[in-house]
Amino acid sequence: MKAGAVFPSKHRIEVVALDEPRISSPTDVKLRMLEVGVCGTDREIASFHHGTPPEGFDFLVLGHESLAEVVETGTAVSRFEPGDLVVPMVRRPCLHPECLACRAGRQDFCYTGDFRERGIKEQHGFMTGLVVDDEKYLNAVPPELRPVAVLVEPLTIAEKALLQIHAIQQRLPWGRPSNVRQRAVVLGAGPVGLLGAMALAHTGFETFVYSRETASNSRAGLAAKFGAHYVSSATDSVEQLAARVGNIDVVYEAAGASQAAFDLLKVLGPDGVYCFTGVPRHGEPVSIDAHSVLFNLVLKNQVILGTVNAGRNAFEAAIRDLGLFYARWPDAVRSLITGRYAIEKFREPVFDRSGIKNIIVLDGSV
Ligand SMILES: [Zn+2]
Ligand SMILES: [Zn+2]
Repeated sequence: MKAGAVFPSKHRIEVVALDEPRISSPTDVKLRMLEVGVCGTDREIASFHHGTPPEGFDFLVLGHESLAEVVETGTAVSRFEPGDLVVPMVRRPCLHPECLACRAGRQDFCYTGDFRERGIKEQHGFMTGLVVDDEKYLNAVPPELRPVAVLVEPLTIAEKALLQIHAIQQRLPWGRPSNVRQRAVVLGAGPVGLLGAMALAHTGFETFVYSRETASNSRAGLAAKFGAHYVSSATDSVEQLAARVGNIDVVYEAAGASQAAFDLLKVLGPDGVYCFTGVPRHGEPVSIDAHSVLFNLVLKNQVILGTVNAGRNAFEAAIRDLGLFYARWPDAVRSLITGRYAIEKFREPVFDRSGIKNIIVLDGSV
């Protein structure tokens, strides 16, 4: 069984041979992997900045964004049967009794940092033929989503963010009048940004995608397909953007670029929520005007939050919403997937930054 692996200590990236996994507990489910998405996290791991192999291994199998088909179930599995499509969750809880988040099944909010993540931290990922996982980490996907369900995991980032933004906005005593359209700016036009923009547009926000690609880029056309406006940072400063948008109620940051993120924070509106999802590379320090940031935070009642990973509620919301987006904007959803690669060529999409979402296809069709 082939697997796409990274050897951090040897600085090597290669296809390795793995033994087929076996069901060892009554709640185990054996999965045939169909597709695995590649993202910036994989690029960071393959650049040896990030990622930890499981105990006893000198390599880590990549892959955390996935779609699989159930092929075999343990004797106590009740929710799945062979042939079902599933998307597995990524993070596994820490074992500390005092971690309230993990004990509540919400390891996406883990306090200790001793969680494991498939394909990222101390547990092999999904970029291989067969995988065994506990049924409690699997989410059922309807068959009609087969062509696009590999996008579920990146969409969970936006879904968790939206759940939190909604909770934060409950503090505003007048609620959300149906005749007033809120305005959101999405920073970054990668897959997480575009899926976030789709989610915001779908929930009724007037949505603006702000990114460095020019307005003639295909990503701008893609944003238009689902009713979002595209503004290029190559031609419009954040002040010009704000003049076009009006009051910015929500910023969904999905670029991982510290300077651009803090520049945009300057134009967040009164009562606004700024949600960070991008993980910046360590690099040169950037300068921020801390005085203005604090001044606005206090005098404009603003909230800044960061969010990572996702719980079951966000996975279920992502599967439901991807179905709605796919019915509403089929071309836009399909065109997010721009490249398909066989496992033997997994290095290419990991390092090639062209395209939007590149995937490894494991069902033999590529
Ligand atoms: Zn990812
Ligand atoms: Zn924990």
